[in-house]
Amino acid sequence: MFFSKEDFIFEDDLKVKVGFFHFSSCSGCQVSFLDMFEDAVEILDTVELVYSNMLTKRETIPRMHVAFAEGTLCIEDKRHLSLARELAEKANIIVTVGACASFGGIRRLSVGSQPPQPSHQSFIPLTEVEILKGKIKYAIPGCPPNPSLLYNFMLALLEVNEDFLQPFEFMASSKDASGYDVVKEVINKGLCVGCGTCVTACPARALGFNYTYGKPTFNPLFCVHCGSCLAACPQSFKPYPQPVY
Ligand code: SF4
Ligand code: SF4
Ligand code: SF4
Repeated sequence: MFFSKEDFIFEDDLKVKVGFFHFSSCSGCQVSFLDMFEDAVEILDTVELVYSNMLTKRETIPRMHVAFAEGTLCIEDKRHLSLARELAEKANIIVTVGACASFGGIRRLSVGSQPPQPSHQSFIPLTEVEILKGKIKYAIPGCPPNPSLLYNFMLALLEVNEDFLQPFEFMASSKDASGYDVVKEVINKGLCVGCGTCVTACPARALGFNYTYGKPTFNPLFCVHCGSCLAACPQSFKPYPQPVY
């Protein structure tokens, strides 16, 4: 289900109320979110930031139309569990921001393709938290996502631009994110045009380029599971030979 205009109807509010929530993370996604506000003067008439642990002093969480959330939920932390419950109750829709919240990110990093350590399994991406699943509509990849991407996403959300939002809806249901995505979904399907966009999108230098074959190469040891490569690939959402993701 796409986000709809009805999700914005909230008593007689004139502004779209948004909040930003922090779970277990480095806060890089929230900093990136705040960075985009330099370009966002034109939407400040439309949007009101009602909750952010960095920018607002509010101690209680108000109801809001859109909650952006970063980080992974620690299943051993009662504060996280109660925050997740409140988030599910107070927000009309939730957007996960960044690799941690969307796919697990560095919390799932394991070396040499070994399974993650038991301690890593205490931290799960928000997209896998049962009580949040019904509210999470979109997942934004990146570690952290670029402020321009966040700004464009916000504009698309306000305009209900379904074409722009569609890939983010796909990502909300993606189970894994790694360089293998471009290998499986683009290269192995014969869709890769060798443009190198995925290589430049990778923040961890896990993707290189083989100039002999004109295709990217992937080193899983460096991958931080941010999902940026598939999201950046212009071929990844092509409807031919079949929809990917
Ligand atoms: S996705 Fe990256 S930048 Fe964002 S919270 Fe996780 S580690 Fe930090
Ligand atoms: S290969 Fe790079 S861009 Fe792709 S998921 Fe891994 S770290 Fe992110
Ligand atoms: S961005 Fe997509 S099409 Fe371009 S090199 Fe990477 S996998 Fe190939």
